[in-house]
Amino acid sequence: RTVYVNGDYLPEGDAKISIFDRGFLMADGVYEVTSVLGGKLIDFEGHAVRLKRSLDELEMAEPCSKEELLEIHRKLVALNEIEEGLVYLQVTRGSDGDRDFVFPSADTKPTIVLFTQNKPGLADSPAAKKGAKIISIEDIRWGRRDIKTVQLLYPSMGKMMAKKAGADDAWMIEDGHVTEGTSNNAYFVKNGVIVTRPLSNDILHGITRKAVLRMAEEAQMKIEERLFTIEEAKEADEAFTTSASAFVMPVVEIDGVALGDGTPGPITKRLREIYLEESMNAAI
Ligand code: PLP
Repeated sequence: RTVYVNGDYLPEGDAKISIFDRGFLMADGVYEVTSVLGGKLIDFEGHAVRLKRSLDELEMAEPCSKEELLEIHRKLVALNEIEEGLVYLQVTRGSDGDRDFVFPSADTKPTIVLFTQNKPGLADSPAAKKGAKIISIEDIRWGRRDIKTVQLLYPSMGKMMAKKAGADDAWMIEDGHVTEGTSNNAYFVKNGVIVTRPLSNDILHGITRKAVLRMAEEAQMKIEERLFTIEEAKEADEAFTTSASAFVMPVVEIDGVALGDGTPGPITKRLREIYLEESMNAAI
């Protein structure tokens, strides 16, 4: 696999990063994951805009222009012959060669790394046909979940809690309300109405969330952006999650309670189809 590190395209075994990099020492970095379908990038623009916002919020310099970023994405997809898969992008604050809580001087070069993951069958996924079983766990993350940082230890632990409980993923709960999944935004459907938590600093502003809500509105579906409890979700007709890497993923069980007949719901399935078709048509 060829990877990209600070301007160079290298075999993955030759890539090097300083041990003083603040991404490594302090999780001082941000990332994006862009899907590739039919060899093309899904919603590159959305990811580029969110990356800029994450960098701005952390007072981190942009490592390169949007045009260069697109070129790097495309070159890696071509070099690694990705038809279906992901491009992972990470920008960290770099380092001035020592460990210090104070940010290094503003002229310190950020570290930029990109690599691809080959995932044949990403769109036509068996997991999406079956639907996911989720458990609920407490949300103990920090207060700026709108910034897409590489600080992923708790979401990773949450995923492990789900696996140990025989489930696929976890939804997190704060002050009695569902925030989001470990790596996705959360929704339920009751009497034809799609319910999801409104945007704030409490959740990531999903690129897929934005696209799916727009498409749902265009398809005359009813949407309510409001706080909701896990009890409400358990009594729903359907539930699903959205993310750039799993698109619209049906949820068929919450804390051991089957939703509807325990199979992916009709609105969820329709949204997945609409999302995949429209985003593949718009892919670049
Ligand atoms: N929420 C969290 C915590 C995430 O990590 C992710 C994706 O990684 C999402 C939501 C979904 O965001 P997107 O649709 O931009 O992938």
